[in-house]
Amino acid sequence: MTKTGLGMEFFVDYSHRLPGHPKCGVPHGHTAKIIVELFGEVRPDGMIMDFKDMEDACWKVLENVDHKDLNQSFERPTSENVTSWIFSELSKNIPVSRVLFHEGQGKWCVVEK
Ligand SMILES: [Zn+2]
Repeated sequence: MTKTGLGMEFFVDYSHRLPGHPKCGVPHGHTAKIIVELFGEVRPDGMIMDFKDMEDACWKVLENVDHKDLNQSFERPTSENVTSWIFSELSKNIPVSRVLFHEGQGKWCVVEK
C-alpha cells in the first residue's frame, strides 16, 4: 500500500522576540523556510490537487506571518506555537499532513498528523 502526497516550500520573513529569553528577548528577525506536505486520493485528472490551488491556500495563511511582527498576533511566537497555528489554519482548507518550519538554517519545528 503506497500513499501519494504533495509538498511545497515557502519562504517568509518575520520579526519576533521572546520576552524573558536570554538571547531571543530582543526584537530580531528570521527568514523561515516552511514546507507543507499533504496526502490524498489521486483524482481522475491525475492530481491530488493543483499545485496552484495548494500554493494559494498556503499563502492565505502564510501572508499572516510574512513581513509581520509576530508579537502582534502571538502571545509567545516560538517556532512551536507558530508552526502549530499554521498547521491548524491550513487544515481548514487543505488536507495537510505535515508542516516543517525551519527557523533559519539547521533547526526546525515539525507538526504532523
Ligand atoms: Zn528568533
